[in-house]
Amino acid sequence: MNTYRGGCACGAVRYECYKDELKAAVCACEDCRNASGSLFGYAFGVQSDDFKIVQGSDLLKPYETRADSGNSVQRFFCSNCGSPVYAKPGAYPIVSIRVVTLDEKMDLEPVFAIYQKNIPHWLGLPTRCIEKGKEMGG
Ligand SMILES: [Zn+2]
Ligand SMILES: [Zn+2]
Repeated sequence: MNTYRGGCACGAVRYECYKDELKAAVCACEDCRNASGSLFGYAFGVQSDDFKIVQGSDLLKPYETRADSGNSVQRFFCSNCGSPVYAKPGAYPIVSIRVVTLDEKMDLEPVFAIYQKNIPHWLGLPTRCIEKGKEMGG
């Protein structure tokens, strides 16, 4: 297992997570767009047990949204700088962490993209990622 570290924009909230290899995905659903303030959410998943907040847990604030699936999602952001850091889907024992919060800037090609109809035509995502997303109904 590798250790990956990251945090919010102001540096008050810090986390560590453990995984062999990070796999990122793009989701352009309305909820992910609104929560990120951008064109899509870009995140990787790790098991909840393999994620820990090492600093600033008192500054982390959650709010709840509802995914298209109808499942609730808790989204955690830093209340000092407003950075979205991770989300916890109610239905699964995982956390979904924003790729951009990693300390080490990684060139993680997304494995799949869902809600592709919301992705602007000028944004060229890798073919593999588009196709895998379509297989998954996105
Ligand atoms: Zn912060
Ligand atoms: Zn989404």
